[in-house]
Amino acid sequence: MTTISHHLRLVHDRINAASLAAGRDPSSVRLLAVSKTFGADAVIDAVQAGQRAFGENYIAEGVEKIDALRRWQADETPRTGVATGTLEWHCIGPIQSNKTRLVAEHFDWAQSVDRLKIAQRLSEQRPPALAPLQVCLQVNIDGGVNKSGVAPGDALALAAEVARLPRLVLRGLMAIPEPAIDFVAACALHTCARALFDQINASGELAVPMDTLSLGMTADLEAAIRAGSTMVRVGTAIFGGR
Ligand SMILES: *Cc1c(COP(=O)(O)O)cnc(C)c1O
Repeated sequence: MTTISHHLRLVHDRINAASLAAGRDPSSVRLLAVSKTFGADAVIDAVQAGQRAFGENYIAEGVEKIDALRRWQADETPRTGVATGTLEWHCIGPIQSNKTRLVAEHFDWAQSVDRLKIAQRLSEQRPPALAPLQVCLQVNIDGGVNKSGVAPGDALALAAEVARLPRLVLRGLMAIPEPAIDFVAACALHTCARALFDQINASGELAVPMDTLSLGMTADLEAAIRAGSTMVRVGTAIFGGR
């Protein structure tokens, strides 16, 4: 067993335990493996251990890895049985206007959409041959001054507009709360994101409700799962320190 496959096991154990402690079905929480700063070799290790969804922060680095993995799959599929096209790539880092085309052309999901202009460009630039881009709005849930993310008070209006764009599917909300001092404080922050998610879904503004609450990282995935996260984004606990 490689170190990465062992680490993936341990993370699944944590997800299972946290889900059961919260009275939830462990299969209601997806694991996004955050491979930023690690090379294609590390991603290949994780793929061979069964992981399929990967998150990247830096767009050019992500595109390079997406291409490398595509080449690897084309070469290895006959031998490994891992079919081309089964990997899912999530952009989780800041998206500047001049990077939207790369995201639209290469990624399956964009979780860090925080303004309408970026969403419009992603929709316009999504190639017709690809499925619509799956989108989460990044919410600045604790109001950190240096953080990206739409303000919670503006999230409903943005969600309503993004949901109408033709080449995007609004899947949910993503947040990166500041590190909290303990479990209770972490739960409180994540619960704010959950409340906003529920409020937007209950507003009647969306024709299709959101189904994804992307919350929780290596340090706080238990608290996020307690608060209702449906997708934890884990880097360090899988790939090691950066
Ligand atoms: C780096 C990163 C993660 C993973 O963080 P770890 O603490 O390494 O698990 C998750 N989400 C986002 C948006 C990140 O930038």
